[in-house]
Amino acid sequence: MVDHAPSPSQTMRTVRLLDAASGLDGVIAIHSTALGPGAGGCRFWRYPNIEAATQDACRLAKGMSYKNAMAELPLGGAKAVLRYPEGDFDRAALFRAFGKAVDALGGVYVTAEDVGTSVADMAQVSTMTRHVAGLDPAEDMAGGDPSPWTALGVFDAMRTAARLTLDAELADLTVAVQGVGNVGASLCRQLAEAGAKLIIADIDAARCRALADELGATTVDVAEIAAADADIFAPCALGGALTQESVAAMKARLVCGAANNQLATPDVADALLARGIVYAPDYVVNAGGIISVSAEYLGEDEASVRTRVGRIGPRVARLLEQAAREGRSPAMVADEMAEAIIAGAAEKAA
Ligand code: NAD
Repeated sequence: MVDHAPSPSQTMRTVRLLDAASGLDGVIAIHSTALGPGAGGCRFWRYPNIEAATQDACRLAKGMSYKNAMAELPLGGAKAVLRYPEGDFDRAALFRAFGKAVDALGGVYVTAEDVGTSVADMAQVSTMTRHVAGLDPAEDMAGGDPSPWTALGVFDAMRTAARLTLDAELADLTVAVQGVGNVGASLCRQLAEAGAKLIIADIDAARCRALADELGATTVDVAEIAAADADIFAPCALGGALTQESVAAMKARLVCGAANNQLATPDVADALLARGIVYAPDYVVNAGGIISVSAEYLGEDEASVRTRVGRIGPRVARLLEQAAREGRSPAMVADEMAEAIIAGAAEKAA
């Protein structure tokens, strides 16, 4: 393990992970510990080299700092990225070696699942360290599936943003939902309950059809959902839904969804602003998941999770109001707010 640079509160620190015996090869990036331990999941993916993995880890760690700060969690931001080994390897041993490395950091980094990792992997990690969340609730009284909390936060944020920017109730609006997986389906059920009309699309046609039948939703092809005839567009699939092209064709006046990294490139925020489409920033809207996962680590109960998730809607409202007053993109306003929260905590700690 090679530890680059000491850890001032907002300077990226990277810890190289290398264990030939288990095949562990990766990096932990810690962006900020000003608000508390750097928290962020562990991604297990194929990367051509350690430089590419490190670059991704740093970008994701910074994103976690912003998300945790805006969710008012006592947590900084970090991320682990592990390279998927070529050839055979012992998965359990690899995650135990990772757990050992996490433990050696003494709580500066708290891990959990991310793309490519599972509850079973985190169970292996937990044999080596207590600085892990996302464990099986049956075994460990932990938080369990965060998706319903994420969906609840998105729903509240959407209802608030619709009142504020469209001057309408969800019952009078049509919402186009891209991706009806764990979060998207749960969001659709809440929207249907609130009386919203739904247009949905998913690459899993059977899943999409079943939900449409259950809720009386209209289905469209995945290529058409971003330009569907709707008031609100809710990206709930993978990242990058908002591109110059999709924004140019969009009929919706409000974007509010669960997906991470919705802006394909930063300049898309300006394109949305120029077209008068209000964008509720993804990491503020979808914080229900990290709130639920971190409650397990912070020892908070369900009532605290509900309280924290209940603050997402009002936070989005403040953010959109400020952005409208200043004629700026809510994405930029959110980044500045997050940076100010982190800088304030760093100053206090100094
Ligand atoms: P999921 O895998 O359960 O669902 C994603 C769905 O999107 C799947 O049904 C998939 O078939 C569909 N999909 C993929 N590509 C598509 C495309 N091009 N067009 C339409 N549908 C497509 O994932 P999830 O847990 O529901 O998460 C959805 C998004 O929300 C992800 O971006 C995730 O990072 C983000 N998010 C999730 C949580 C959480 O608590 N699960 C928390 C924060 C953010």
